[in-house]
Amino acid sequence: MANKTQPGYHLGFDLGGTKMLAVVYDDQFNAVGRNRIKTRGNLGVESVLQRLIGNIESALTDAQVEPSELRSIGIGVPGAVNMQTGVVLGAVNLAWKNVPVAETLVNHFQCPVQLLNDVDAGVFGESQFGAGRGATNVLGVFPGTGIGGGVVLNGEIVTGASQTAVEIGHIPAVPNGIRCGCGLRGCLETVASRLAIAGQAAQAAYRGAAPYLLEQVGTDISLIRSGVLAASIANGDSEVERIIKSACKYLGKAIGAMATVLSPDVVVLGGGLAEAMPELFTKYTSKAAEKSVVPILKGTFEVKIAELGDDASVLGAAVWGAQKSAS
Ligand SMILES: [Zn+2]
Repeated sequence: MANKTQPGYHLGFDLGGTKMLAVVYDDQFNAVGRNRIKTRGNLGVESVLQRLIGNIESALTDAQVEPSELRSIGIGVPGAVNMQTGVVLGAVNLAWKNVPVAETLVNHFQCPVQLLNDVDAGVFGESQFGAGRGATNVLGVFPGTGIGGGVVLNGEIVTGASQTAVEIGHIPAVPNGIRCGCGLRGCLETVASRLAIAGQAAQAAYRGAAPYLLEQVGTDISLIRSGVLAASIANGDSEVERIIKSACKYLGKAIGAMATVLSPDVVVLGGGLAEAMPELFTKYTSKAAEKSVVPILKGTFEVKIAELGDDASVLGAAVWGAQKSAS
C-alpha cells in the first residue's frame, strides 16, 4: 500500500479526550518522531486546535523534519467526522460540534489533511500493518469502557450514510436486558464491555468469590482494570474467568452475526482487555463466532488479537491520510 503514496513524511495524529499524540512517519511508515501532550478539552475549541497545531510542530521538531517536507496529515478523532469535508460532526468527550479541523490545518501546514474516526483509524492501522495485514476485509472489535467497532472492506473504511456505522457495542445481546447508555436495552456493551465485566467482577469479589481480586483492589469498579483481571484469573479466581468467558460468548455471537453480513477474512480483537488475556479472548470469542455464523461461512475467517497496541490509531490515521491525499 505504501507505493500509492508520495515520498516525504506523513503525520499521524490521535486526538483523545485526555491526551493527543502526533507521530511523524517516513514514506515506509517507520516512526521518526513523536510528541504527546494533554488535550485540555475544557479550554475550548480554539485553544485545543492551537494545541493540536503546536503538538504537530513539536513532533516535527522531534523528527527534525521541516513542515514543508510533510506530504499529508491524518487525524483520528473520538467521534463522528465527515471524511469528505474534514469536519468533526460531533465529539462528546471534547464537547465539539461541527469543527472544521481539516480546513484549519490545511491553512496552517499547506498540505492535504484527512479526518477519520479514531476506532476506524485503529482498525485501518491493524488492517495495514497489524493483525489484519494482507487481508482484504477486516472487522475490528475493541471492548473497552464501551465497545468500539470498525470495518475495512476492500481497503476502504465503511462509514455508512451517517458516518457512524459499525456501532457493534449496541447490537442487541440480551432480550429485555439492562438499559444501555444509548437508551436501548440489553446492548452488547451491557454484558461485554470492560465496565460490564468490572461490575460483575466487583460483585464476585464482594461476595467472596474472587479472593485474589478482593485482596488486590477491593470492589471499586474503577480499579478493576484489564491487568488485574488477568492477574486474578492467573491466581485462581475461577469466577472471574467465568465472567470473561461469558463476555467472550456474547462478543462472539455478535461477531458471528456481523461476519454473516460482511464475510471478513480477519476479525481483530483489540483494547486492553483482549490484549491482557489474548488466549482466553481468542479461544472463546472465536468458538462462539463460529457457532453463530451462517454455516457456509464457518472456517472462512480468523479471530486475532490486535498487534499494534496504542499506536494502531495514530499509524492508521497516518496511512489513511497518505493514501487519500495521494489518490
Ligand atoms: Zn446501547
